[in-house]
Amino acid sequence: MNKILSVVISASLFVTQSAEAQSYKSLHKKAIVIDTHNDFISTGIEKNKSFDQDLKGITHSDLNRMKKGGVDVQVFSIFCDENYGMGTAFAYANREIDSLYAVVERNPKKMMIVKNPADLDLAVKSKKLGSMMGIEGGHMIEDRIDYLDSLYKRGGRYMTLTWNNSTSWASSAADERAGKDLGHPYGLNELGEKIVRHMNELGMIVDISHVGEKTFYDALRITTKPVIASHSCTYALCPVPRNMTDDQIRMIKKNNGTIQLNFYSGFVDSTFRLKNNNFIAKHQQEKDSILKTNPSDFYANLFLHEKYKDEMDNVRPSLTLLIDHLDHIVKLIGVDHVGIGSDFDGINSSPRELNDVTNMPLLTKELLKRGYSKEDIYKILGGNFIRVFKANQNN
Ligand SMILES: [Zn+2]
Repeated sequence: MNKILSVVISASLFVTQSAEAQSYKSLHKKAIVIDTHNDFISTGIEKNKSFDQDLKGITHSDLNRMKKGGVDVQVFSIFCDENYGMGTAFAYANREIDSLYAVVERNPKKMMIVKNPADLDLAVKSKKLGSMMGIEGGHMIEDRIDYLDSLYKRGGRYMTLTWNNSTSWASSAADERAGKDLGHPYGLNELGEKIVRHMNELGMIVDISHVGEKTFYDALRITTKPVIASHSCTYALCPVPRNMTDDQIRMIKKNNGTIQLNFYSGFVDSTFRLKNNNFIAKHQQEKDSILKTNPSDFYANLFLHEKYKDEMDNVRPSLTLLIDHLDHIVKLIGVDHVGIGSDFDGINSSPRELNDVTNMPLLTKELLKRGYSKEDIYKILGGNFIRVFKANQNN
């Protein structure tokens, strides 16, 4: 290539790139943006706040800020922890579902429940926040198929086979890695296999975030439909128990599923845990006094993170590290198997550029900067999940 031609080409490349950088906002707006994991419902109940209030500075998300962040469809996590079990977990899940229905009914012009791809289309076209539900933890069905049916009927469109706690039929990542004695082998037992088959029949997506490796491989062997990891990162870049190993990532490709990236600093950055421990140790006296009024470790840390925001900015990872996880997946298995599952309002620290849901467009900015095409970005932001959602439908 002659010199002049190469100068012309690189100059025009520069113009194109800077134009693209400026247009990230409009591209983000045009894309169907789907976040497959948000814990507002649990946080709202805990903090006694409603999603249709202005909660800036209090939560990561609320109805109006979702719009500002360009989020078209949000999968809300239906969740209770391991303190709920037989006789209580299913009821609590229903209470959470009630609270989502209530806020949707109060805001019929701004929100709608999405139960199938046609609903999703309609929500996007009518500019309402498509509101989906994912059941985060198999313990909420209390070992009963009829409870699974009931949660599906009410709108649950994925179920995370386990949360951090194992069930009688599936072992969690936390328990498997800790070598906990469950009184039965790790993985899915007969009931677990039956539940996965039943989810396939219903059209309920199998979510493998939080599950142990044995459960993961069993589920992938049994399922006839694509699965998701609704909120997980990569083990290669941050080796924590519930991030996905390269072998698991390759299995997801074979299954035609998708891995939705979690924004939690501790899943994104392998150095976060140590840095955060040092930060907490420095403020231990204050933390102890907070714990006297609210015994939740999670909220005590959240309080300190917010109070000492400037100090925490040196502890939190950058958004670029989160996108490194995405690049890692794309390099391994291509662009068709990755998306976002922020875990907003379920985490007490996120990358420093992603303070709340309104910062979502910065993801698109970084993707453009790294050379992803418009088509790729559409897939990442929502298209890949829509493909999996459709593939799980039975009618
Ligand atoms: Zn989770």
